[in-house]
Amino acid sequence: MPLPTMASLTEEEQMIVSQVRRFVDREVVPVASELEHRDEYPHDLVRKMKEMGLFGVAVPPEYGGLGLSFVTYAAIVEELSRGWMSLGGILNGAVMVSWMLKTYGTQDQKDRYLARIAQGEVCGICMTEPNAGSDLQALQTVATRDGDHYVLNGTKMFVSNGIYGKLFAVLTKTDPQARPPYVGMSAFVVEKDDTPGLTVGGKINKLGYKGIDTTIFYFEGARVPAANLVGGEEGKGWLHIMSTIEVGRVNVAARAVGVATAALEDAMRYAKQRVTFGRPIAEHQAIQLKLADMATKVEAARLLTRAAAAKKDAGERADLWGGMAKLFASEVAQEVAMEALRIHGGVGYTKDMRVERYYRDTPLMIIGEGTNEIQRLVIARNLLKLFGE
Ligand SMILES: Cc1cc2nc3c(=O)[nH]c(=O)nc-3n(C[C@H](O)[C@H](O)[C@H](O)COP(=O)(O)OP(=O)(O)OC[C@H]3O[C@@H](n4cnc5c(N)ncnc54)[C@H](O)[C@@H]3O)c2cc1C
Repeated sequence: MPLPTMASLTEEEQMIVSQVRRFVDREVVPVASELEHRDEYPHDLVRKMKEMGLFGVAVPPEYGGLGLSFVTYAAIVEELSRGWMSLGGILNGAVMVSWMLKTYGTQDQKDRYLARIAQGEVCGICMTEPNAGSDLQALQTVATRDGDHYVLNGTKMFVSNGIYGKLFAVLTKTDPQARPPYVGMSAFVVEKDDTPGLTVGGKINKLGYKGIDTTIFYFEGARVPAANLVGGEEGKGWLHIMSTIEVGRVNVAARAVGVATAALEDAMRYAKQRVTFGRPIAEHQAIQLKLADMATKVEAARLLTRAAAAKKDAGERADLWGGMAKLFASEVAQEVAMEALRIHGGVGYTKDMRVERYYRDTPLMIIGEGTNEIQRLVIARNLLKLFGE
């Protein structure tokens, strides 16, 4: 029985989310820890996610997608991540790239790529570089026009889905001298296996967020068709990527809610079973206080995440709400994972319990899609601007 929540969905949305919930309970939960400990890519689970049409959640029905709302998407990502956070990450790239193409792509780009993504193309976003993470405008990957192609040179760090994915949105500078730098930026759709001059590095060994492949892309004279410049116009890449990242932040916030929910559920289950001083630890007030705080924070994070998703559904910029949701939910997830680990006592520190995985997985949400320090700056800047008006 799921934990109670005030977050609501329509009957139809609820049916879709329940289907994902059943998939997670029956097929993800039993295998997630074993795959995670082996850092093994979950090919079978990803195939089933494709069969369920999940890669097409943001793709309009005319291209074969489900065309669901972001609120439903957030609920789906919560469910997947309740089973294993890495599944939410594997889906994230496809939803971001399809949303970007649906919103900003040329008709030709929509026709060539949206149906492919709906059918289950694994995708990714390449922004970060060795010397440009938070300070993204310092990026050094340059795209130079050469006839009907652009030639890309540069290195992209931490490419999620970089080994098994096929389509990548790559942020570059087409005018490296432009000031401010963002006006000289352009995004391209790069077909990884069909781009001479693009080399894929090895799999990065991580603390958590295992299974999903994170790597480095080396562009050395890589030739990308000019038809793959997103929107067909140079200088719009910053807008394209920044508004797409808001979709990613809804995903990260939802992932955090999912992991926090799993930690809370495991803590409740364990607290009812474990007996100390003659009664289940759930009957000790110190444990009850923890459970109450954990549940309150998880529910608040869920409601904020769904509210940010609703803003995106309304077609509004959601950097303020997406930033708040990502900041709050990720910090909550880390706190709740730690509290769940404490409630498990010594066994919580062993690899036999899922809670150690939640504890290792949660920091990624604090760092990924912009660190929480940067989220705070974005939130404050937006608030100060709005307050003035
Ligand atoms: C597992 C994993 C997967 C990832 N997947 C992707 C991906 O698919 N695509 C992609 O493009 N990127 C990806 N990233 C990269 C991620 O988005 C960056 O790591 C993140 O944005 C931070 O950049 P950085 O690592 O360069 O840290 P830095 O920018 O070097 O920051 C270091 C520290 O300084 C702080 N800091 C920096 N500037 C300021 C400031 N002005 N004020 C206050 N504090 C500041 C940061 O918050 C941080 O604490 C991934 C990262 C990880 C770990």
